[in-house]
Amino acid sequence: MNERELERKARVAQLLLDGARTLGETLDPDRVYDRFHDLLTSFVPHDGVLVSSYDAGEGLIRCDYAWSDGNRLDSSVFPPVPLNRQGGGMQSKVIVTGEPLLFNDVAEVVQQPGGTYYDVDREGKVRKLPDSGPPGSRAAMMVPVKHEGGVVGVVQVMSNSAQYSFDQLELVDGLVQQMAAAVRNARLHREQRRLEAAEVAARAVAAEREQAANVLDAVGDGIFLVDGAGVIRLWNRAAALVTGLRGDSVRDTPVVDVFPEWEALVARIPVVEHGATAQAATLPARVGTRDLWLSFVAVSIPDGIVYAFRDLTSERRLEEEKSDFIATISHELRTPMAAVYGAAQTLLMRNDELTPEQKQAMLEMVASQSARLGQITEAVLLATQLDRGTLSVESEAVDIGELARATVEAMRPQLPPSADVDLEIAPQVGTASGARDRIQQVLVNLLDNAVKYGGEGTVNVRVEPANGVVRILVTDSGPGIPFAEQQRIFEKFYRSGPELTRATGGTGLGLYISRELVQRMGGHLEVRSHPGAGSTFVVELPRADVEMHRFR
Ligand code: ADP
Repeated sequence: MNERELERKARVAQLLLDGARTLGETLDPDRVYDRFHDLLTSFVPHDGVLVSSYDAGEGLIRCDYAWSDGNRLDSSVFPPVPLNRQGGGMQSKVIVTGEPLLFNDVAEVVQQPGGTYYDVDREGKVRKLPDSGPPGSRAAMMVPVKHEGGVVGVVQVMSNSAQYSFDQLELVDGLVQQMAAAVRNARLHREQRRLEAAEVAARAVAAEREQAANVLDAVGDGIFLVDGAGVIRLWNRAAALVTGLRGDSVRDTPVVDVFPEWEALVARIPVVEHGATAQAATLPARVGTRDLWLSFVAVSIPDGIVYAFRDLTSERRLEEEKSDFIATISHELRTPMAAVYGAAQTLLMRNDELTPEQKQAMLEMVASQSARLGQITEAVLLATQLDRGTLSVESEAVDIGELARATVEAMRPQLPPSADVDLEIAPQVGTASGARDRIQQVLVNLLDNAVKYGGEGTVNVRVEPANGVVRILVTDSGPGIPFAEQQRIFEKFYRSGPELTRATGGTGLGLYISRELVQRMGGHLEVRSHPGAGSTFVVELPRADVEMHRFR
């Protein structure tokens, strides 16, 4: 290589280095093109520059930057052209071969068939060549833009008067690759910024969603959304708490699977449009396996209908309890009061007509009915004390075997002749810890029930020791208690059978009081019954010796 050539190469290298620096200083792709054009202008005379990109996926060549006769043009005026794989057309040839081209005879080239050529004037007016006359350019250089082994674009430099040399082509090629790298860099940077901004925005949206979800979960009312297809899309924490159904088991299931009587329920809930004042409807609702009283409001939104509900089951139960209480007590009081009143009236008005035996019978009736009235009042007061937690139950060592025997003996004369009570006391029962009179009260109640509800057969009372407890079992051979009622009979005022029409009197407080008393003595009361096969009520009380041992 001669000295002149070496010098030239060194100059080219220097130019390219400077070019790379200048191009790399900006991170805006548009500014990169402008700088590239400025650099080019200082080294290569030209009248037009066109930067196009080639998208291999679409097979289209698009103009990214255009400059003609001293003006920057809007690149969108150039229609995208499809790649001509046969190599017709100068741009296509460069893309297909990956080799730069140099022409000093543009007018001739555009005459050749197979290519599509345009000419653009300084106003950006596009002419199709050669149909609309000869091209303005005389010489042209075309350089492929390469990236990762493929051609991703073409840069054209055109002159209307000058002739181009291969040295110039070499320089332009170098500059083009620098420019392309700078554009790629700028685009990557811009894309990264866009992604970062998108991420920040996505995070903000997620945070907002999370906040909304947190708020929804913190709300005390149950909230759920039913979409247009009748599927539950949202189920907040309160909804899960009230119904016992977790969000993940309910979400995306048809609402009718969650509320079995949904059709009937929804017909009674007024739905208002978003923004209007909602009207609440308090309804009994079966949700999953629970029967609840829920107060619903419903609002229609574009995604479906939002239902909010509040659990009023305990308020309702209280209401029901109150009315049960009044109904039961007034019914239970009426019979003995009417008897006492009737007897008193008779004694007053017809005293002279009555025999001493009749008077005696009436007075006995007044006494027994007054005792019944006293018992009812006593039961109500006791239940109230238990409710309020104001009843104290002492604890002593009680010989349960002896207590059972005494109770059965005391009750025997009062039982109807058909009732037979059989007592069985296992050896070494030991003593239980509790209050003697309260245990007796429980036993009397259980025996009373066994005789009242247990039919004709024998009532069996068994006392036995068991693991750390003394157990009393009261078994009858009556009709038994349906499974569905075995827990309910321990509720206050609960009486099975049709309301107020039962032959046997009672307040429905006996088992409630019994269970509460046993629990206060540290024991349990439960029932085992198979409908049709009698019932066994089981009382378990802690053994007194075990208790003492524990406190020693
Ligand atoms: P009351 O006897 O005043 O109705 P309880 O609380 O003692 O109240 O009993 C509640 C209900 O439980 C009764 O009304 C009855 O229906 C049922 N019951 C109680 N004991 C028996 C039994 N041994 N067999 C069948 N049913 C019973």
